[in-house]
Order: sequence, then structure tokens, then C-alpha cells
Amino acid sequence: MQKLIEGIHKFRKNELGNYSELFCRLSNDGQNPHTLFITCCDSRVLAELITHSQPGDLFVVKNVGNIVPPADASGSVNSTAAAIEFATETLGVSDIVVCGHSLCGAMSTLLYGLPSTHAMPHLQQWLEIAAPVRNIIERNYTHLIDQEARITAAAEENILFALENLHTYPAVQKRLNSGTLRLHGWFFKIATAEMFAYDYVTQQFQSIEQQIC
Ligand SMILES: [Zn+2]
Repeated sequence: MQKLIEGIHKFRKNELGNYSELFCRLSNDGQNPHTLFITCCDSRVLAELITHSQPGDLFVVKNVGNIVPPADASGSVNSTAAAIEFATETLGVSDIVVCGHSLCGAMSTLLYGLPSTHAMPHLQQWLEIAAPVRNIIERNYTHLIDQEARITAAAEENILFALENLHTYPAVQKRLNSGTLRLHGWFFKIATAEMFAYDYVTQQFQSIEQQIC
């Protein structure tokens, strides 16, 4: 906790000057983020840092495994669904990014389960939403023996699963139909801090650095 308190002091002393005008404007005018960014709780994935974003730019959802439940998922307490509705209906974001990552603990647990000594019923129930991803890996990726490679494959399939599920939300569908919303699947490789985007034409994840803006 001491580290956080010190960080607050350092931020206010050394960096606030660069942001004070922006925070003041955002306070007066309200937020108008351009993108809903759905990513994993993992402490190594910092949406704002890796996209060089400013306060007010991104509406960020971090959940375990960057899972997007289908709109009709059972259980009414679903903050990810609430954020999707709010971002698309009220904030009017133009883009939704689902960003998975390498070495994802959630994907590892999805494939290999929790140690039997750990009682985490909420985590187990949450990850079961992505059971179709586990099925795909077990059915189509039998050639992958290496555990890390299987976890990467699961993270990539989970991104596609999330994009598919986004289509089940009426608010998203409406905006897609009117051509005012774009969906993106991204994969962040922690070791090199590289970002890969899913290309619908080649059906591969390709480095964003190779793409011309
Ligand atoms: Zn993760």
C-alpha cells in the first residue's frame, strides 16, 4: 500500500502539471471515450500504457480472461454486459477492442483446471462461460503439445469467441447495422510488448506494426 501512496504523491508532484488542464476539461465536459477496451485483469496488461492513451480516451473493462459472455448468459450480475451496453448506447464509442494476452492465467485455468485445494467457485463459474473455447482447443489443436502454445491458442480463440458474443448484444448489433461501430480482436505478447490484430481476411493475428494506419 505504501507504494501506491508514494505513487500518488509522485504523480501529483511530478506529472499532474501535464494533465491538470485535461482533467479539468474532462470534469467540465464529461467523458467521450472513442473505444471500449475489454482486456484481462492481468497486472502486466495496461491498456492505456500500451496504446499510449490519455485520460478520457478509453472505456476499459478488465475481467478475468477478457471474457465476453453472450448476451443471454445466465446470471443477471454481469458487469461486462453492463459496460458493453453503456459504452455502445450512451457513450457511443466507435470501436470495441477485445485484447487477450500471452501467458494468461485464466486461459491456463480454463484448459488445465484449478488445483483441487483451491475453492474458488466464482472463478470456476466465470471461466465456464468460455467452455466452448476449451472444446475448440481439445478438438482442433491436438497437434499442439507444448503447454504455453496451447494457452496462446486458447487466448486467441477466446478473443474470437468474445467478438462472436459481442454480436449477441442488441445494442452492439444495432450500431454494427448502422455502420457506426467496429470490432477488433487484439493479442498482446507480454515478453516483447508487441500487439497483434486479428485479420478477418487471412484469419490470422498479424503484428500491428506491419499495418499502415
Ligand atoms: Zn489473462
